[in-house]
Amino acid sequence: MTTDSWINECLYPDWGQRFMVTRELARVKSDFQDIVIFESSSHGRVMVLDGVIQITERDEFVYQEMLTHVPLLAHGAAANVLIIGAGDGGVLRRVLQHNNVNRAVMVEIDGEVIRLCKEYLPGIAGDAWNDPRADVIVGDGIDYVKRAPDASFDAIIVDSTDPIGVGEVLFTDEFYSNCARILTPSGLIVNQCGVPFMQADELRETSARRKQFFPHVTAYVAAVPTYVGGFMTLGWAAKATGLTSVSVADIRARAAAAGILGTTRYWTPEIHVGSFNLPPYIGQHLPG
Ligand code: SAM
Repeated sequence: MTTDSWINECLYPDWGQRFMVTRELARVKSDFQDIVIFESSSHGRVMVLDGVIQITERDEFVYQEMLTHVPLLAHGAAANVLIIGAGDGGVLRRVLQHNNVNRAVMVEIDGEVIRLCKEYLPGIAGDAWNDPRADVIVGDGIDYVKRAPDASFDAIIVDSTDPIGVGEVLFTDEFYSNCARILTPSGLIVNQCGVPFMQADELRETSARRKQFFPHVTAYVAAVPTYVGGFMTLGWAAKATGLTSVSVADIRARAAAAGILGTTRYWTPEIHVGSFNLPPYIGQHLPG
């Protein structure tokens, strides 16, 4: 909802944040969702999908760094990476920072999100769109994973909207079953899994689903200022156990080898390892 100079997030009916709007840049109703991009006085440019804050220029680094560097450095040798959603290109840019990544396939359902982010949020993706290792596909992630060959990816990063509307299919048994099939034996999948202080069901239900297909299911946290309600959780499901207990020293060495060390503003080797230590109010929603 937009008043004279404010946009109110409408994720929760009885609580939320608002941004002072200095200039509205785009307001498009695509085939999938309402897209608004505006200039805020506090957080730079902001994108909203169906009334839910997706990304702000000011704090996007927190979420993109943690959603990308943690799985790739925990894996240690991810060469083929699948990104679902992430239409702003931020995850793609950070995946391609890893010099051991040979191929990054990004499947975003809404071409309008890509078009508008290229035009109004160019700094999020930088030059990632033109990287020869990038393969950007406009399509439904559920269809892509259904058709992808067995063991064709080392890591899957799901940067989707919440499990309502087009994002819902990315939180289903069918989706996780196919993700398990197309991942290599040491493969893993991470996904945006909401803010458990307000969306505990999302973490609990999707972790239980992932547990059917992956031996090691947990989550890790990041403090994203504009994902209101405290820690944001990122769901974790891996075929191999032990990936979350790599030492700080080994993570640092891997980050140096991958060309990541010294390029981040939130992620550090210590934050990486520490992010898996969950407060009880969050850990209680994970399967035993
Ligand atoms: N960082 C944001 C967050 O955590 O809320 C999400 C960023 S990104 C904008 C989310 C993207 O997921 C949107 O562009 C949306 O179009 C895309 N998406 C939703 N459902 C999808 C699906 N089934 N297949 C592919 N992309 C999907």
